[in-house]
Amino acid sequence: MSPNNLFPIIQPKMLETLETNIQLNLLERAINASTNGIIITDAQQEDDPIIYVNEAFENMTGYAFNEVAGHNCRFLHGHHCQQEDLSKIRQALQEGKECCAVLKNYRKDGSEFWNELYIAPVHNAQNQITHHIGVQTDVTHRKQAENILQESETQFRQTFECAPIGMALVRIEGRFLDVNPALCEMLGYTKTELMRRTLLEMSHPDDFAEGKFLYRRCLQGEIQTFQLEKRYLTKDGSTIYALTRATLIRDENQIPLHYVVQILDLSCALSQHPVPETTLATKQVTPAKALPNYFHYDGLTGLPTRILFEEYLEEALWHQPQQGAVFFLDLDRFQIINESFGHGAGDQLLIAISDRLEELLQKDDFMARSGGDEFAIFVKDVNTLSQARQIAKTLQEKLTSPFTINTSEGKITTSDHFITTTIGLTLTSGHYSQEKGRNLLQNAEIALGRAKKKGKATVEVFDQTLGEKVWRQSRLETDLKKAISRQELYVQYQPIMNLVTGRLDGFEALVRWQHPELGFVSPGEFIPIAEETGLVIPIGYWVLDQACQQLQEWQQRFPECQDLTISVNLSGLQIKDPGLVQKVKGILEKTGLVGNQLKLELTETALIENVDLASQQLQQLKRLKIQLSIDDFGTGYSSLSYLQQFPVDVLKIDRSFVSAMTPDNHNLKIVQAVISLAHALDLEVIGEGVETGYQKDQLKSLGCEYGQGYYYAKPLGAVQATQVVQEDVGQ
Ligand code: C2E
Ligand code: CA
Ligand code: CA
Repeated sequence: MSPNNLFPIIQPKMLETLETNIQLNLLERAINASTNGIIITDAQQEDDPIIYVNEAFENMTGYAFNEVAGHNCRFLHGHHCQQEDLSKIRQALQEGKECCAVLKNYRKDGSEFWNELYIAPVHNAQNQITHHIGVQTDVTHRKQAENILQESETQFRQTFECAPIGMALVRIEGRFLDVNPALCEMLGYTKTELMRRTLLEMSHPDDFAEGKFLYRRCLQGEIQTFQLEKRYLTKDGSTIYALTRATLIRDENQIPLHYVVQILDLSCALSQHPVPETTLATKQVTPAKALPNYFHYDGLTGLPTRILFEEYLEEALWHQPQQGAVFFLDLDRFQIINESFGHGAGDQLLIAISDRLEELLQKDDFMARSGGDEFAIFVKDVNTLSQARQIAKTLQEKLTSPFTINTSEGKITTSDHFITTTIGLTLTSGHYSQEKGRNLLQNAEIALGRAKKKGKATVEVFDQTLGEKVWRQSRLETDLKKAISRQELYVQYQPIMNLVTGRLDGFEALVRWQHPELGFVSPGEFIPIAEETGLVIPIGYWVLDQACQQLQEWQQRFPECQDLTISVNLSGLQIKDPGLVQKVKGILEKTGLVGNQLKLELTETALIENVDLASQQLQQLKRLKIQLSIDDFGTGYSSLSYLQQFPVDVLKIDRSFVSAMTPDNHNLKIVQAVISLAHALDLEVIGEGVETGYQKDQLKSLGCEYGQGYYYAKPLGAVQATQVVQEDVGQ
């Protein structure tokens, strides 16, 4: 070993600075101390013979230097000269390049080992190759482990592909990494279709929560595997029940890699054995096709719906809570296109818009059609507001160039349409990062609401410093829009008593809102919001409809109570509604009530702000024999002379005057004055907010006809109110 001719091959460049002998000695020692085998061959001699090997080479191969010196290295390959990596080496050497390869080699005793080889040519000053240096590492152990792994992978793949049950490899964030044919068949999708979706999308929404909880427990290391009976939605919209088993696979550093999910369709089992001994028997079975895919995908654009968007968002944030922005887009004046060119044109436009917006999305971004002309977009890796604003601008600009659409059915006529967009946005970072996807989307929507107030084509950012009150207000405003359709509103009925006979005269219908997250919201809080947004109009008619239906039900059930009345509050906006009379008439006809069974309550303010229109509308209502009451009398203008202009029947004295009547406060003059004036004008009087027997007695002695308040009853649900009617009838 260490022949003298080792040193001349070290490149002259390297040696320029070396003071030859000392440094050369050092180099030789270093090479000998290396645990890698090192070989040097003489490239200028025929067949590239070995001229040097180090000690590690000798240990690795069992050959001593003098046994190999002067030979080409090929003796190491045994009979395996066809290895693919070998030809790679030969080619590289011919081209004068360095190369790496892993080869199966043989020791002197014939045993094989895996040799990871690095070979580099050495050039002289004339750029001729003089030598080759090879560095080799014994990687037998690694190679064996790899082989075992590969074998088990092959086995797994075979099992996976041929398994009779559905199997999938699912990424941590829910997308499919791989799916087997059985799963494709079970869910009715092709592999390509399925690979574009997530396991979550395939799941029945009612089972989201339970599944997610378990997947998260896996990630948090509480469990490694779980089993769950849940429902999946197939492509044709039917629901299947399946036993799901998921196992989280981690790497050697315990970093989660993916889930192996096995899905056994129980539907067949269920049909063969109708009452299986599983917990499924206790779950309500949704009939097949009950939940088509429209739950998740918008039929027109093919985009995810709001529901799916919220789920995506929650997942995205759960994995990377600090990054991203949510944009809520609303198309300005879209309604005009719909109205002027027809819904076909509107649909084309929506598709074209969603296509354009999608072009802007990066791999991890996603988008949904959240409603009619609204789109929601999540963009990942947005950290600052200025970045987010810039993206909003890009989104707006993307939609500024005209859209060409086919505007007349039958003959092809195209026209160009210009669209502007208003955007509300919120960053996912900061205070709300832990919030659910839904809240973030709502925040963006709230910002959109503010943007719309500013004008068209604007952008507003959700302001996290908004006080809780403002936030709540905006939230209520947003949510109130959906409250009717989501059946969050209901009506209560508060008895109005005849003070003379002590019997029930009727009820006032009062609307209630049970918010799914914020709990009970009082009308005192949401009615002003409804007034501001105009929502009080649909809400008002809805209450009217409910109340009239309720009265009709009572009349049918208790034929004796034909005189019972129902009082319904009418907002100032409804008085301005030109359709008011028709709508009221329609509801009366539908429920078969006669006009004098209905009392509409209006405030002075509502009347006085629209004197002309109000008196016209009220006259027409009077023709239907509907009774009209002035609500909260005493809190507004309290101008009886004004009131004379309106065909009013009843005055309701505001609660504040009634509550001021206590045994220690003998000053009843205001109430007394109001009652006598009302009587002078031929109006009946209702005292509101009667809470004590004393107040009832005083009102009665002052000649007030009716009383309403907690003394008699609080506003009651339909069932309790029905009991009140029944008791009164029984008297
Ligand atoms: P309002 O029309 O003056 O309704 C009477 C309010 O006084 C009701 O409050 C009722 O629960 C409350 N009240 C009744 N008796 C007593 C009592 O003895 N003591 C006290 N402290 N309060 C009593 P509520 O239901 O919170 O309604 C508040 C207001 O919201 C209503 O005042 C009305 O202006 C509005 N509102 C309620 N329902 C509707 C509706 O369907 N349409 C419209 N436009 N407004 C409504
Ligand atoms: Ca009222
Ligand atoms: Ca009132």
